[in-house]
Order: sequence, then C-alpha cells, then structure tokens
Amino acid sequence: MLERPLYDITPFTALDYPDHLATIFWFAKCNMRCLYCYNRDIVLGEGKISQAEALSFLKSRKGLLDGVVLSGGEATNYTGLIPLCQAIKALGFKIKLDTNGLNPNMVERLIAEELIDYLALDYKAPKEKFLAITKNRHFDDFSKTLNFLIKQAFPFEVRTTVHGDLIRVEEVNRIIKDLLKRGYRGTYYLQPFLFTDTLMSRVKKEKNSFERSKLCSGLKVVWR
Ligand code: SF4
Repeated sequence: MLERPLYDITPFTALDYPDHLATIFWFAKCNMRCLYCYNRDIVLGEGKISQAEALSFLKSRKGLLDGVVLSGGEATNYTGLIPLCQAIKALGFKIKLDTNGLNPNMVERLIAEELIDYLALDYKAPKEKFLAITKNRHFDDFSKTLNFLIKQAFPFEVRTTVHGDLIRVEEVNRIIKDLLKRGYRGTYYLQPFLFTDTLMSRVKKEKNSFERSKLCSGLKVVWR
C-alpha cells in the first residue's frame, strides 16, 4: 500500500460531482497513457499526500462539503482504496469514483460494500482503437466493468474525450451503438479535448473538426 497515494487535493468543486459540493482526491499513477491526457504530472509523478493527511483535511470540511471525488490518475490502482473509502464514509461523505474501468474487481467490491454512490466511467475508444488511444490492451477489463454496472443498475455515467484527429464521429457512433446493445440508457457525455502544457504526449491541437451533426441518435448525448 502506497504511503502517499494522493498527488493533490482540490479543496472545492461544484462541477465534478452532480448535485454535490465536493473535494477531489487526485490519485498518483495510472495504468493507461492516453494520448490526450492532460494530467501527465499526476500519472507519472509520485504521491505527496498520505491517507491520514487526506482524512484530516476532510474532517475540516465536515458540514461544508458533502462529497468526495476519487480521481487521478486511476484511484482503483490504490490497494488501500477500500479502507480509505470506509474512513470517508465514516465521516459522512458521499463518494464518486472516476475510473477508466480497468479494475472490475475493485469496482465490484466498492459497490458490494456500498462504499461508492456514483461513478463516471471513461469509454476511451472502440475496442479496435483502444490500444492506440490508451496504450493499454485490456479493453476486456473495461468491458467487464461496464457490463457489471449496467447489470447492477448502479448510478453511473459514461463519457468519452473527443479529439477530432484521434477519434472520428463514426467511432463515437460505434460506442453509442455498443452502449445501446449492452443496455445502457443513461446520458452519454462527450468532452472536447483540452489543450494544455501538461499533456501526456505531443498531441497537437485538432486539425479536423469533429462532425457533431453526424452523431447517431438513440442515447441522450451531452457535451460538456
Ligand atoms: S486520461 Fe488516461 S492516462 Fe490520463 S489519468 Fe485518465 S486514464 Fe489515466
């Protein structure tokens, strides 16, 4: 178990956890290397904040905030996540998990033990494009997480980051069709790529615009 699992803490957000005022715990390290990732320092850097320090911060926010977002990096890589969530719950906070879905066992445990209340799942790319975008070949693990969440009817959302040169509208349409086929009926969020100076790779600003008008219907699609 990492002594300092968190890279950083965002003390306050009203945007990242629907209907909640929350803090964000940014976990260091990730098992993907998404081309468009803008959290290079978090993904490649070392943790700086211990679990005890994070919980002490949370205690100081009791009555001011009601939620904690576990983000990163990839929170489910942290082997101490279960006890950390138990401690967060004991303080009375709700928990939202942001995940790339590569750790279905951890997600199943968190839900079985009622340690998370909401989840945002990144659907990075269709299977045939998954490796190229994420530099990780374990689409099947992501797929298992997605199926589990749908089967459990757990409250969650699916989202995809869109960079017009990396993913085309036909590929996003394949994702929509796949979600429908699996039985997902929630909102599908699309997030435009954000150009920053902390990008993982040398991805440039998009040359090709994403043809939003060609998105297929069937699911409620929201840009944010
Ligand atoms: S964008 Fe990709 S590499 Fe970056 S934190 Fe998320 S899953 Fe990891």
